[in-house]
Amino acid sequence: MYDIVIVGAGTAGLTAAIYALRAGKTVLVLEAKSYGGQIINTPDIENYPGIKHISGFDFATDLYNQAKALGAEIKYEKVLSVADGGHNQKTVLTAKNSYACKAVILATGAKNRPLGLEKEESMVGAGVSYCATCDGAFFKGKEVAVVGGGNTAVEDAMFLSNYCSKVYLIHRRDSFRGEEKGVEALRKKENVVFILNANVTALLGKYKLEGIEVTNKLDGSVQVLPVAGVFIAVGQMPENSAFADVVTLDKAGYITAKEDCLTGTEGVFTAGDCRTKAVRQLMTAAADGAVAALAACSCIDG
Ligand code: NAP
Repeated sequence: MYDIVIVGAGTAGLTAAIYALRAGKTVLVLEAKSYGGQIINTPDIENYPGIKHISGFDFATDLYNQAKALGAEIKYEKVLSVADGGHNQKTVLTAKNSYACKAVILATGAKNRPLGLEKEESMVGAGVSYCATCDGAFFKGKEVAVVGGGNTAVEDAMFLSNYCSKVYLIHRRDSFRGEEKGVEALRKKENVVFILNANVTALLGKYKLEGIEVTNKLDGSVQVLPVAGVFIAVGQMPENSAFADVVTLDKAGYITAKEDCLTGTEGVFTAGDCRTKAVRQLMTAAADGAVAALAACSCIDG
């Protein structure tokens, strides 16, 4: 039996592992895809206290290595459900195994939100991407578009502007959620074109992207942009339905918890972007990981 099973090896989950291991607990981290979570796709982190800047990949890898060095066991298995058998008796089920533990920390993060356009899914890898750092290099010297107005879109546009011939930044409003500093830097780039108050309304091309149709929300005018790639950065959605039996989900599907990371079920905690919260940042994911791990340790010992 493990003391704590952590579901998710992103910033929240790996931070929780570090805190729990340092408190002397045994820890298993279960991850469905690869370690690092969303931050691994961020080209440059500049707002994590104490680190002037670092790539998301380096940050995630350092965190992973830190957790491993402390003794974290990390397995790549998708968790299908969590069952509550009372105090210090939980079961975490994957397709291959069933793990008994005393406490569970759900740190499942969130996945990219699609625009919901026709052909969007089939064109992933053929011009449609949700990750500029992963796929940007395929579009060297070409025209691309980034959709969204948050920090991800702003950072992606900056990243792509360094080697794409032109970057259209398409946002549905005329003010940005992303930090002003980043938006200002983009305005100074000669090859970045802002298209505001507009939505992408169609993906053009049969098998691979040949352009996009953009509709202005104010006057209904439509323009076609001959881009080879479109990078969709319109936020995230949680993936918590597997845990609906053991925790409460809000209307949007996030796990309900206050700042103490406690869910409604004793011994089941949650941390990071998968839970209800006002600020979803790297910093707050790490903070949640620490809070959830220490709360889980007290619950086990209490
Ligand atoms: P976000 O902040 O939620 O922004 C999503 C953007 O997409 C918003 O501008 C939103 O428009 C737009 N949008 C949503 N649905 C849309 C739709 N169906 N069609 C068109 N546009 C749509 O998401 P994010 O940029 O991925 O960032 C997520 C969190 O991570 C944020 O807290 C962000 O600050 C953080 N983050 C931090 C860093 C960093 O600190 N280095 C880097 C990346 C992300 P509206 O504005 O109109 O709602």
